[in-house]
Amino acid sequence: MAKRDYYEVLGVSKSAEKAEIKKAYRKIAMKYHPDRNPDDKSAEDKFKEAAEAYEVLSDEEKRPRYDRFGHAGVSGNAGGGGFGQGGMNMEDIFSQFGDIFGDGGSPFESFFGGGRSQSRRGGGQKGSNLRIRVKLNMEEIANGVTKKIKVKKQLKCDTCSGSGAKDKNAVSTCSTCRGSGYVRQVRSTFLGQMQTTTACPSCSGTGQMITAKCGTCKGEGKRMGEQTLEIEIPAGVSEGMQLSLPGKGNAGSGGGPAGDLLVSILEEPHPELQRDGINIIFELYLSFPEAALGTSVEVPTIGGKVKIKIPAGTQSGKIFRLKGKGLPQVQSYGSGDQLIHTNIWTPKKLSAKETKILEGLMDADNFQPQPGKSDKGFFEKMKDYFR
Ligand SMILES: [Zn+2]
Ligand SMILES: [Zn+2]
Repeated sequence: MAKRDYYEVLGVSKSAEKAEIKKAYRKIAMKYHPDRNPDDKSAEDKFKEAAEAYEVLSDEEKRPRYDRFGHAGVSGNAGGGGFGQGGMNMEDIFSQFGDIFGDGGSPFESFFGGGRSQSRRGGGQKGSNLRIRVKLNMEEIANGVTKKIKVKKQLKCDTCSGSGAKDKNAVSTCSTCRGSGYVRQVRSTFLGQMQTTTACPSCSGTGQMITAKCGTCKGEGKRMGEQTLEIEIPAGVSEGMQLSLPGKGNAGSGGGPAGDLLVSILEEPHPELQRDGINIIFELYLSFPEAALGTSVEVPTIGGKVKIKIPAGTQSGKIFRLKGKGLPQVQSYGSGDQLIHTNIWTPKKLSAKETKILEGLMDADNFQPQPGKSDKGFFEKMKDYFR
């Protein structure tokens, strides 16, 4: 559908002043406002069309661009500020009203129905969120774990099942809203009478009034108590992650739903292994004779000790890789590796005999450093590894 000329949409001349444009737009917005034309698609289209025209013609940058280049000058790909194929959405339009009508608040809340109000029909109030922290060791992170944790929290009152009423006869229909949970308010605006719908203040949206309170919870519908929760933690989580368990938080009131349980993850450091994302790093120390002659060593991994062969002539800084021995990706496939970083231990003190042996080797041919291309430094190797 071809777009109509914006001046034509608002019914103003090309030389119209700002105030005139605003006035014209108000008039159209009033006429075609969705509240006054429920379920009328053509009115809604006109309403949107006018909003879009006003958005451009009221803008000191967009209007000259529109005057020169037409719709193309203000469409999405002409440098921002344009409208996609869908034009403006209702949220955009209503946020524009604050500026036009100047009172800050939109007089059009009712267009959004009850969706914007605090409480839902039959809702009551949602319980608050409960936060706990869970400390995990590396094995638990690697495999995932179910933790049983005792928490102090607000629980639904057993006596009244959370309703807060003494018994089922102690509940009557709310007289303020007559059980609907909503109240309608008619406000006068310059657009005329506007209706807004909000949760009933007398019953907080439940539609019911309690005539006699539950003796156990004094009408609160909840009590402090302890509960043991089973918290399933997936493999691969890391420090600072937060898991959210809906409905496991504090009980609501007036029959409202419980809040959420928010679980923050803490990592307990491993005595020998370091974590680097999904990889595990182990610092291996070899004596000089071990590195020169070759040996086999046991190294710790998350799954237990693993024996690896160290070939003769291993240089300091060499990285051995145990594929798949790292940590899993959280809620995804694949896992990291364990990287074994080799360090050659240089003796810090020597006996007379040791000194003599080493002095004898000082000038030996094979003991002269001859780094080749394959003997890259540590950072080069790490770079290669992660490439
Ligand atoms: Zn109770
Ligand atoms: Zn009510």
